[in-house]
Amino acid sequence: MDIAVLSGKGGTGKTLLSVNLAAAAEKSVYIDCDVEEPNGYLFFKPENIETEKVSVKIPYVNKELCDGCRKCVDFCKFNALALVGKYPFVFEEICHSCGGCVIVCPQGAMSEKDKVIGEIQKGRSENVEVVTGMLNTGEASGIPIIKKILPEKNNKKDVLNVIDCPPGSACIVMESIKDADYCILVAEPTIFGTHNLKMVYDLVKLFDKPYGVVLNKCLEGENPSEKFCMENSIKILGKIPFDSEIGEINSNAEILVREDDKYKKLFANLLETVIGEVQNETIANS
Ligand code: SF4
Ligand code: SF4
Repeated sequence: MDIAVLSGKGGTGKTLLSVNLAAAAEKSVYIDCDVEEPNGYLFFKPENIETEKVSVKIPYVNKELCDGCRKCVDFCKFNALALVGKYPFVFEEICHSCGGCVIVCPQGAMSEKDKVIGEIQKGRSENVEVVTGMLNTGEASGIPIIKKILPEKNNKKDVLNVIDCPPGSACIVMESIKDADYCILVAEPTIFGTHNLKMVYDLVKLFDKPYGVVLNKCLEGENPSEKFCMENSIKILGKIPFDSEIGEINSNAEILVREDDKYKKLFANLLETVIGEVQNETIANS
């Protein structure tokens, strides 16, 4: 079962929820797709880490064949090529590795080389296999890393795959959720929180994904995100209280469910609710 956890912005509690759901499951794979700022591994402190580099294809010019026609420069919609003197210069940091310039070059002067953009780390933390994507600073897109880490999911029925998505609703998030069985949207109890919730709500509807909301940092009194859910008949899966103990354990990069039985119960209940939702969805679609 593949559960994706999303939020419209960073700091909402997406990683807190992802890490604790994975830890609450009997067997799970935690996949950190927040490749620009992965931090789930700081909680899990995985052991026996294996590392694999991730590369993309970048064009380079054979000056002996190039006649300076600039067809490649005009083709590149990312402005990653510019004619400098007679020959094209490749701005590698903004090249999106589409390969188009290689195809359009009439002289066969463009070839491709590998460029490392980041890495994948795999390790184990008790019941959780931890897979982390890490994008090098300054790279154009983390999507090639997402494409490489998602196949690390375990497709056995008794294993829960938790996908910790990047924040926001851009194409890197779309890539992260596209094969998920269910999406959990994490929301804060503020006007800004509701605004960000709407972004990911629109995204999961666009992808026709089953979804529910977890309200984080809940206090007594009005919760604009809860109101939004009620007005739009969105299932609220559970609430995580605004609690200084949670803040302290989380800030120390400890896992709540491994520290205190009351949190173990909180996230186990949440997980049970999510699994129930996925099963209901499966029955409804069969
Ligand atoms: S591979 Fe695509 S993005 Fe990169 S320089 Fe060529 S045309 Fe531009
Ligand atoms: S299209 Fe080919 S021949 Fe023309 S400038 Fe680019 S590399 Fe040179």
